[in-house]
Amino acid sequence: MTSSASDPVVDGVHASAYTVPTDAPEADGTLAWSSTTMVLVQVQAAGHTGLGWTYGPPACAAVVSDTLAGVVGGRTAMDVGGSFEAMVRAVRNQGRQGIAGYAISAVDVALWDLKARILDQPLYRLFGAQRAEVPVYGSGGFTSYSHDQLRRQLTRWVEAERMPRVKIKIGQSWGSDQGRDLERIAQARKIVGDETELYVDANGAYSRKQAVRVARAAAGEGVVWLEEPVSSDHLEALAEVRAAVDIDIAAGEYGFDLFYFEAMCAAGAVDCLQVDATRCGGMTEWFRAAAVAAAHGLQVSGHCAPHLHAHAAAAIPNMRHLEWFHDHVRIENLLFDGTLPPTGGAVRPDPDAPGLGLTLRTDDAAPYQVA
Ligand SMILES: [Mg+2]
Repeated sequence: MTSSASDPVVDGVHASAYTVPTDAPEADGTLAWSSTTMVLVQVQAAGHTGLGWTYGPPACAAVVSDTLAGVVGGRTAMDVGGSFEAMVRAVRNQGRQGIAGYAISAVDVALWDLKARILDQPLYRLFGAQRAEVPVYGSGGFTSYSHDQLRRQLTRWVEAERMPRVKIKIGQSWGSDQGRDLERIAQARKIVGDETELYVDANGAYSRKQAVRVARAAAGEGVVWLEEPVSSDHLEALAEVRAAVDIDIAAGEYGFDLFYFEAMCAAGAVDCLQVDATRCGGMTEWFRAAAVAAAHGLQVSGHCAPHLHAHAAAAIPNMRHLEWFHDHVRIENLLFDGTLPPTGGAVRPDPDAPGLGLTLRTDDAAPYQVA
């Protein structure tokens, strides 16, 4: 053990879940949903509370209570890396790739937040800050939106919040409505004007040749980012699409461990690696995934959960941006005090707030609690 007798010890691990209905029906290329669940973890030591979360089923909360609380409870709050490794080892038979991985991620983030609060440091400075502000891009543009809904959302980002980059979903109905995809790309370009970077995300909806055709048409509208044109599980197809087009290809949001990220980078499958700290293993694994990307000469983009990624992204050199995802922004603003404005297309973690700088709004969260 590395701990000293004076170290604060983790003496409380609590998991809860909140299901928040969407503000309108939402769909991408391969899934539709009407609510989103945040599983929140609170860890305690020396009278401080650390917060972490993941977006996943309420079952993640049970993994935290039944398995992980017993693993990290009683350990020093200072050695987050040791706690992370112990959690990974403990879920061997449950399977890290899935609910257990989401649960580990939320606990790891909570432990980092806790340590930063004990040390009275903002988390991005505890990590070792590289920058004071982190670029973000507006993400939404659901395939379920009407033209009017799309216009309202994009206009808010580009005009009211002055975001220089936005992303819409394409690949409607598993790629079976390519005509509408191209029409919506053209509509989006018209709405945001020529100065705004336009991104699209197909969520794995297309076949490979179809993806190349869509990418070439989208390039005509100045699209510069095509996310998951084909399934991100099919690295060979992803690499083929990437080789055939000029648009940047991005993927990685379902990565659960370093082997996944290394395989994706080594296959030449992406121009930018997406990494999600709420899935891959929290902050601890996020930084290691970023190092894998760096070794392949790639930048990293933080996938969703923007207030969780802001601090991590401020502390890696090869950072591109964060996804300012409509759903998660809405939920994080609803459940937390201390959220950040994305004005001008960047967020600046508060240098005077310890940890992630967030506080749970207990009363506002209560009506949505499901576990
Ligand atoms: Mg995506």
